[in-house]
Amino acid sequence: ALVLGIESSCDETAAALVDGDRRIVAQRIASQDEEHAPYGGVVPEIAARAHADRLAPLIAAVLEEADVTLDQCDAIAATAGPGLIGGVMVGLVSAKALAMASGKPLLAINHLEGHALSPRLADPALEFPYLLLLVSGGHCQLLLVEGVGEYRRLATTIDDALGEAFDKTAKLLGLGYPGGPAVEKLAREGDPKAVPLPRPLVGSKEPHFSFAGLKSAVLRAVESGEHADADIAAGFQQAAVDCLLDRTRRALDRIDTPPALVVAGGVAANQTVRGALEGLAAEHDMRFVAPPLPLCTDNAAMIAWAGIERLPLGQFDPLDVAARPRWPLDPEAEAVRGAGV
Ligand code: ATP
Ligand code: MG
Ligand code: FE
Repeated sequence: ALVLGIESSCDETAAALVDGDRRIVAQRIASQDEEHAPYGGVVPEIAARAHADRLAPLIAAVLEEADVTLDQCDAIAATAGPGLIGGVMVGLVSAKALAMASGKPLLAINHLEGHALSPRLADPALEFPYLLLLVSGGHCQLLLVEGVGEYRRLATTIDDALGEAFDKTAKLLGLGYPGGPAVEKLAREGDPKAVPLPRPLVGSKEPHFSFAGLKSAVLRAVESGEHADADIAAGFQQAAVDCLLDRTRRALDRIDTPPALVVAGGVAANQTVRGALEGLAAEHDMRFVAPPLPLCTDNAAMIAWAGIERLPLGQFDPLDVAARPRWPLDPEAEAVRGAGV
């Protein structure tokens, strides 16, 4: 099997070809960091225009590099949400046009499903079920992944996502955008215990997350002028990791221990986060699986892979399928949350 994947939900424009043997046959990613850096965050309108300019040549380059035609693909997969709607529409409409022109089926992929299944692209031994910590720019969730399309959400953030908190901390420290890798780098030179920072929700009964209070505490620490930037970065990262560990432990208390603990999403690229979760997995006699760094942040290989995983289900999407700015992986849990978490 061979699937062309397209990703355009945030600020990476990406295309990739992935086959059924887990080979990334070809891939290209164009990051928009330079366009958004002056604003300290992603500007939706600028992102949509950049996707529109870059996506078609990127897809052409991937097909050419692999020496493959659309005829040889089994499906065209594109992120259909959640994300910035202008960008999502660019990718999804492009995929519709390619599907229409080639007569190949369309797969409208949930970006979060792309992240959730990405660890299986790199690790053939990772089987269902697994406990997934999905930590990205817009999400922080614990999901029991029981199969393709079978996601049971055990916890979510009641305010900010962790990637967002990394980005805000970077902005406060003048480290620029994107912030996660910059905070991680500076944190290596700091003392994680030097600045007293809160661990929101640690010890609470439900395994949910909260990072708004941590973010405000970082702001106060910066404004006080009493601390070295590196100590603030290290303190913030340690507080965040302590929250992840405590909340994941709490979720594990509630379920039969699955064979593997898995982390995915942009923040999964963080070495301190990976190290801490690896330790937690060992405590519970679980395998620990984290995708290689380039598969953690947004990419099209994970979208193509989600397409490969979906192929046997035969659930293709019609050409009028809609782009969705919001699209929960577990709609049942989302409904409960709407009623107050
Ligand atoms: P979502 O997937 O929730 O829709 P997104 O696609 O914008 O959001 P990702 O691309 O998966 O998010 O992840 C980007 C986030 O990951 C950013 O907030 C970024 O700061 C963070 N991030 C990337 N690398 C690191 C790192 N090394 N340490 C911490 N955070 C990181
Ligand atoms: Mg990005
Ligand atoms: Fe993402």
